[in-house]
This record gives sequence, C-alpha cells and structure tokens, in this order.
Amino acid sequence: MSDCLFCKIARGEIPSKKIFEDDEMFAFHDIAPKAPVHFLVIPKKHIENCMEVEAGDTALLGRLLHRAAALAKEQGMEERGGRFVINCKEDGGQTVDHLHLHVLGGRPLGWPPG
Ligand code: 5GP
Ligand code: ZN
Repeated sequence: MSDCLFCKIARGEIPSKKIFEDDEMFAFHDIAPKAPVHFLVIPKKHIENCMEVEAGDTALLGRLLHRAAALAKEQGMEERGGRFVINCKEDGGQTVDHLHLHVLGGRPLGWPPG
C-alpha cells in the first residue's frame, strides 16, 4: 500500500535501523524500544493484521517466524529468550496497520500484559 508507514519503511522510503532484508521480509529496530532488544519483523506484502492472514500467507509467515528467531539469537536472546508478539487491531493495541512481529528481550518481561 502506497501510504502505509511500514510499506514505506520496507521500500526504504522512510529511514530505519535495518537489521535484515530479503525479497519477502524486512526487520528493523523499533523507534521507541520497550526493552534493551526490540525489533520488528514485517512481511513486505501488505497484510493489515492477523485477522487478514490468508491461506496463501502461511509459508511466508512460517519463514518470518524462523527468521525472527535467528535474528533474536544474533541479538543475544538465545539463552534467556524474550517475547514474540503480534498486536491485533484495537483491543490488541495495534497502532500500525501492517502486520508486524515484535521481538523483545534483554530483560525479564512481565505477564500478563495490562
Ligand atoms: P503496534 O503498537 O502497532 O503493535 O506497534 C507499532 C510499533 O511501531 C511501535 O512499537 C512503535 O514504536 C513502532 N513504530 C512506529 N512508527 C515507527 C517508525 O517510523 N519507525 C520505527 N522503526 N518504528 C516505528
Ligand atoms: Zn503496509
């Protein structure tokens, strides 16, 4: 989508601290980190949110999760882990309407969320 913030970041039209890119996904540090490690992994395909995932997206999202775990290891999260989060729509607190996986780590994270 031409006017979507994360589509623009994935196309390089808005600068970001990129940590990974291939032909189908893009990973970058969150602009307002909530933990010592906080990055986002997005499909380049504009999928609005979790509720809009289609059957044809399943392999892509599997690869995205696999890549997120590899990047989390590179960011020092292998031993202690962290949290992989996808906020969805209003009640989930989603503020950018382009599906994104948050990866947070580097400190103990509370549960349940507020
Ligand atoms: P949500 O609340 O939709 O799950 O998460 C959106 C995330 O995107 C937030 O953590 C927010 O800090 C991050 N964010 C919003 N705008 C930008 C931006 O322009 N650049 C980067 N790197 N992160 C952003
Ligand atoms: Zn988008």
